[in-house]
Amino acid sequence: MDYLNKLNPQQREAAIHKEGPLLILAGAGSGKTSTMTHRIAYLIKEEGISPYHILAVTFTNKAAKEMRDRVEDLIGAGVNMWILTFHSACLRILRTYAERIGYSKDFVVYDPTDQKVVIKNCIKEQNVDEKKYPPAYVLSIISDCKEKGISPAKFGQENGDDFKGKTVHGLYAAYENVLKKNNAMDFDDLILRTVQLFEKDDEVLAYYQDRFRYIMVDEYQDTNYMQYRFIKLMAEAHNNICVVGDDDQCIYQWRGADIKNILDFEKDFKNTKVIKLEQNYRSHGNILEAAHSVIENNKGRKHKKLWTDKEEGEKVKYYRAEDEKDEARYIAQEIDRLRTGELKYKDFAILYRTNAQSRTFEEALSARDIPYRVLGGIRYYDRKEIKDIMAYMRLVQNTADDLSLARIINEPKRGIGEKTLEKLRTLASVRNESLFQLLTDEEIVDGLPSKAVESIKEMVATIEQYSLEKENLRVSDIYDGLLVKTGYLKSLEQQDTVEAEGRVENLLEFKSVIYDYENENPQLSLSEFMERIALIAEIDNHDADENAVVLMTMHSAKGLEFPVVFIPGMEDGLFPGWRSLEKPGGIDEERRLCYVGMTRAMQKLYLTSAQLRTLYGKTDYTKESQFLKELDKSLVDGDAIYQKKSMSGTSLNGFPGNYRNPGWSQGGNDGFNSGEIFRPFDQLKYIKENQRTSQSSKGGDYQNGDKVSHSKFGEGLVISVDGSTITIAFDSVGVKKLAKDLAPIKKI
Ligand code: ATP
Ligand code: MG
Repeated sequence: MDYLNKLNPQQREAAIHKEGPLLILAGAGSGKTSTMTHRIAYLIKEEGISPYHILAVTFTNKAAKEMRDRVEDLIGAGVNMWILTFHSACLRILRTYAERIGYSKDFVVYDPTDQKVVIKNCIKEQNVDEKKYPPAYVLSIISDCKEKGISPAKFGQENGDDFKGKTVHGLYAAYENVLKKNNAMDFDDLILRTVQLFEKDDEVLAYYQDRFRYIMVDEYQDTNYMQYRFIKLMAEAHNNICVVGDDDQCIYQWRGADIKNILDFEKDFKNTKVIKLEQNYRSHGNILEAAHSVIENNKGRKHKKLWTDKEEGEKVKYYRAEDEKDEARYIAQEIDRLRTGELKYKDFAILYRTNAQSRTFEEALSARDIPYRVLGGIRYYDRKEIKDIMAYMRLVQNTADDLSLARIINEPKRGIGEKTLEKLRTLASVRNESLFQLLTDEEIVDGLPSKAVESIKEMVATIEQYSLEKENLRVSDIYDGLLVKTGYLKSLEQQDTVEAEGRVENLLEFKSVIYDYENENPQLSLSEFMERIALIAEIDNHDADENAVVLMTMHSAKGLEFPVVFIPGMEDGLFPGWRSLEKPGGIDEERRLCYVGMTRAMQKLYLTSAQLRTLYGKTDYTKESQFLKELDKSLVDGDAIYQKKSMSGTSLNGFPGNYRNPGWSQGGNDGFNSGEIFRPFDQLKYIKENQRTSQSSKGGDYQNGDKVSHSKFGEGLVISVDGSTITIAFDSVGVKKLAKDLAPIKKI
């Protein structure tokens, strides 16, 4: 029992608790997960319980793998036991017993892409307006219902009185029929159907109740209602259920997690033994105190405070950077500086609020040759929307690029399926033409599926126009134009989902990339830009186990720990994020996220913010996060917080005036324009307005002698207007003939 000696008395008490419900409620880094793994080892080694009778549930595959490794370390052998996520545990059960609830055993699992296809078909069949009921929106309601166990019939009873309710009810019912008919389940079904199986079939339930005599759930605070039902049903017979969690770390309410599950545990399971762990083993004293000083501001939390006998350690470092590039540069520099000691690259983590922030860090780290990997998200340049828009830009650059054309021909949807594309490819190769060339042939396009004809023509015309005019346009103008005129932005907007919003954020963020390069080189050409991006995007993928700095969101860092943690972007609107401010309790959830982020740090914690931030394609002065204000100042080392600095007169580099909404930046009382709240969808307005302004210039209201200003070439004088061409003598580049439709000009 040597392995138990390491535990403190409370941990030990929990680890050797054998029968009856057990709740381990404790703050971050107090050894909850370790205690659970020790308990598994104890049950197996000391109590002679077969691993066959134990079920341990976690939230992520990574957490499941870590727990398995830790248990194996303790008992010194490979164990064949169920240490699984909720989804994989349910999937295993259903693979054995699905027939009992009317599915065959070989049912298929539909992923979100499949779900979208199904719901789209339902929308079409029921003649519902897809614009008013975007697929992703309907799916989110369905998912919500399934998490709560609301069947289509019940949904109909509760919401059937109004038109919207009736429509969604119809779609939900149709969606369920299709899945049933196809012998398919979506992810929510995996849990819901298992619960239904248990409720309906006593024999199956009895089998699993007998099998899993000891059940353990990590991160219990993030369970939703259906997951709770699953656990409750399984545990009812033996009542040997052990859950561990921390109400201060509930960060998934937006996805249906119900904090009540952990708060009501004692009521739910009679004779629960509650063990609180109060010693933190992870973090140095100052880090822990700092994290407390923030979380204390949440109302209605159960009072608990951790102590540590670790040294106080260094204070939390705060750096207020000039802008996000300076922020990233500072972090990369600190990593380089500290790495020379005992610390390795993999001991550093940069934990940000949103994936869109990763790009600047990727660049700053590459610039110093620091290896890194982006976890739980996709590297910025690998993201679908970035690849799509780059494919459009590559086509404008080089219309012969068949690969890029194939990527975007049906992106957004234009009614071109794989088969049609294959036919086009064959034809192009027979005619020895590029795909694009082929599509400039009207006869060919007219022969396409009828719904595709118009949209393909528009797409071809857009690419052609920009391709001809590319030398006369700034890269950022080409970018805006493509996003709008290809319908790409619109299709994202129509989806109106969190996911689509994330994509829009990333696209706006890409605009910051372009501005950066245009700042350095105002005459930047499309080909130069594409080359530079290609170089960054090519940097190889790092091996998962490699010694590399880790980049991820604070959400995905739950349960993990790192010697050195950086939390960038401590600014209102970013963290706490603007979305949170709109929801009741949203700010508290953000604060819990802040607590989760800070408590990942073992030895050093850095918080940073940028005075000027370009994010989602918009530059503005920022206001320091309210969480910084809540921090106990005596624990912080660094630039004075709320430093008063007059920023007036500083130009917003590279940001053309027409992107800035004067009404947006509320004059802050601390000298900057502050209080900015980022709203990706709102910002689309500016891109679109910019397009409209350039569009309106085509009205032919230019006359010889008009003075104009062009976004790339500066001021000039109109010398002739002829049909679709306008000829301008510029002070900077001399006489240019431009396409009137596209020229980014304004009368002055
Ligand atoms: P979180 O809330 O972040 O999930 P946790 O409560 O699950 O944290 P663990 O990850 O289990 O905490 O433990 C945090 C760290 O403390 C780990 O490095 C673990 O090895 C160490 N630790 C836990 N208990 C002890 C102990 N009794 N003695 C020494 N180290 C310990
Ligand atoms: Mg844990």
